[in-house]
Amino acid sequence: RSCEAVEIERTLAMIKPDGLSGNYTEKIKEAILESGFDIIEEAVVQLDVERASLFYAEHADKSFFNSLVKYMTSGPVCAMILESPDAISRWRNLIGPTDARKAKTSHPDSIRAMCGLDSEKNCVHGSDSPQSAAREISFFFGDDKSEALEHDEL
Ligand code: ADP
Ligand code: MG
Repeated sequence: RSCEAVEIERTLAMIKPDGLSGNYTEKIKEAILESGFDIIEEAVVQLDVERASLFYAEHADKSFFNSLVKYMTSGPVCAMILESPDAISRWRNLIGPTDARKAKTSHPDSIRAMCGLDSEKNCVHGSDSPQSAAREISFFFGDDKSEALEHDEL
């Protein structure tokens, strides 16, 4: 029999304030489960300016930063840990490009095409690398949640 180990990854998904207030939560969760992710943890959280700024610290020098922080603090978000093989890139592919207007033409089946508005209000977040996933999972759920517990065998 084959003993090849499959790396089960975790990533941080977030439904942003426009996604939650627009009642897209159930549709987004359906898409998550249909795509074979397990939702390991889930928390609805109201970010304040300090926490939102920390989450998006890499964008602190961008022209859109203040507007982004205002958007991200405009209502609660739903943070989720998703787990599957290759979870980080698979979730990024499922959400589609940053600009939801572009998503509607180039990736019409993506989540941002379904419920996003523009390059800011794009309804969902996904970690962009293993390092980001570990940092962002810790940000919401603490340090011991970023690794999948088991490596399945094929
Ligand atoms: P992504 O969320 O796809 O990883 P980025 O990391 O580049 O995109 O940006 C983080 C978030 O900042 C985006 O999801 C979006 O909400 C906002 N944002 C990015 N670019 C712009 C922009 N040009 N104008 C306004 N908001 C932006
Ligand atoms: Mg990003």
